[in-house]
Amino acid sequence: MPVASDTDGLDDAVDRSGDDDGDLPINELFCSLQGEGRLAGVPSVFVRTSGCNLRCWFCDSYHTSWEPTGDWYGVDALVAAVESYDAAHVVLTGGEPLVHERSVDLLESLAARGYHTTVETNGTIYRDAPIDLASVSPKLESSTPTAERDPKGDGEWADRHDARRLDVDVLAEFVEAYDTQLKFVVTGPDDMPEIEALVADVRAAADAPVPDEAVLLMPEGQTRDRLAETRRVVADLALEYGYRYTPRLHVDLWNDAPGT
Ligand code: SF4
Repeated sequence: MPVASDTDGLDDAVDRSGDDDGDLPINELFCSLQGEGRLAGVPSVFVRTSGCNLRCWFCDSYHTSWEPTGDWYGVDALVAAVESYDAAHVVLTGGEPLVHERSVDLLESLAARGYHTTVETNGTIYRDAPIDLASVSPKLESSTPTAERDPKGDGEWADRHDARRLDVDVLAEFVEAYDTQLKFVVTGPDDMPEIEALVADVRAAADAPVPDEAVLLMPEGQTRDRLAETRRVVADLALEYGYRYTPRLHVDLWNDAPGT
């Protein structure tokens, strides 16, 4: 069922009708191996919320952003679903899970039961919650859905996306509050000056260190064929700049199959 609109404004990122009942709009919930970042390979339950305040043209969860779909679930039902799997790690992802205030309730319930929680976020909205690993993926200029790259329209979202996609002070808040990895989707060497500048800005703004190994370069690509083109380039960039390379294990293993 559709849960969101693509109209303007953060409050319109999702239909808010379920929030009053303490529910979250959920696109999917499944168990798989974490495919990206420091915990790649770890069995994890993925809770994917629907709705996002951005519209990256390459979004690999189109049905949580460009055309958000899902159903509303209460926190207790979600925790019960998580507990039905044999995994100690939970990844709260989206969409942008932190557009939803109720994500904090879910994270608190999971923490109370001893789960390790990772939150996959675009780093534009900060919330105070029990997050064991903040996996923050700042969006570069190359993410903007210009008319030529818009998967749905003619660039109507480009200005809003561009205005919202980076907030250095919010990124600094994540770094200060949580064990944080900064994960960048990289298309090629042209992205590196922007990444270097942004990492420098976050380091200057945060009262906590951002070591090079907390900066992850991830090849752009949602299919094995596309990754075959980008991963060697990005691996070489990681070596050159001293940052960490992260695979997209789920694409390597399952290509673009849903629920992986
Ligand atoms: S921030 Fe993430 S979920 Fe939102 S549009 Fe970009 S890639 Fe998709």
